[in-house]
Amino acid sequence: MTTLLEVSGVSVSFDGFRAINNLSFQIGPAELRAIIGPNGAGKTTFMDIITGKTRPDEGRVIWGDLSRSLLSMSEAQIAQAGVGRKFQKPTVFEDQSVEENLLMALSNPRGPLAVLFYKPAKADLARVAELADEIGLRAQLFRKAGELSHGQKQWLEIGMLLAQDPKLLLVDEPAAGMTPEEREHTTQLLVEAAKTRAVVVVEHDMEFIRRLGCRVTVLHEGSVLAEGSLDHVTSNQDVIDVYLGR
Ligand code: ADP
Repeated sequence: MTTLLEVSGVSVSFDGFRAINNLSFQIGPAELRAIIGPNGAGKTTFMDIITGKTRPDEGRVIWGDLSRSLLSMSEAQIAQAGVGRKFQKPTVFEDQSVEENLLMALSNPRGPLAVLFYKPAKADLARVAELADEIGLRAQLFRKAGELSHGQKQWLEIGMLLAQDPKLLLVDEPAAGMTPEEREHTTQLLVEAAKTRAVVVVEHDMEFIRRLGCRVTVLHEGSVLAEGSLDHVTSNQDVIDVYLGR
């Protein structure tokens, strides 16, 4: 399998306004990709289409080598199939420890209180410790998530998503509000995560994207304007014109 997700000719309009216009996109099973574009380019709407939150008016969204259309699946089924999404604001359970947050994500019980009644298996505890290592929070395992820094909360949420072992992880502006050190750690985390799954990062911070060192897709007016290395797309005259508002 060389393509995990194949989107072709997708369009969606809101009240007659074409937010996504004949967009095509492909990503491989262990690929890191950055999506950039000015405000209103359609980045969020595109992510919403992949997760099933927004249904396109036309086009195809095909998942993996199963040749299965995501368009015939519910949001829950799409998540179940292996699409994980991280929004900009971290949503961790502040009153629970890092370990409990990760255990909840791993075992997926119903609600944060369920963890109080649940006896984790040894294998789950071992996996949680491993995840804590991966996200750099081993030393914080027993601290409440509410006491973590903004960056640490973001990593915890990424860890909670990794616990569910998604095949495709969509991450919205992971570097926003982070210190340079936190940004560097986030870069490592995402590069590492993309060794075994596809990771799509929507980001504005060009320096952060440069450090990710991955292929970049530039969206504009709901279509792909350019694609390639960061140097390739930022030397494209159309991209320069769009960013300069010409
Ligand atoms: P980006 O994430 O790149 O900033 P969006 O996907 O949020 O862009 O939006 C693309 C365009 O579609 C914008 O012009 C936005 O105003 C419009 N849009 C997005 N969602 C809706 C909606 N639910 N109803 C009407 N217009 C929308």
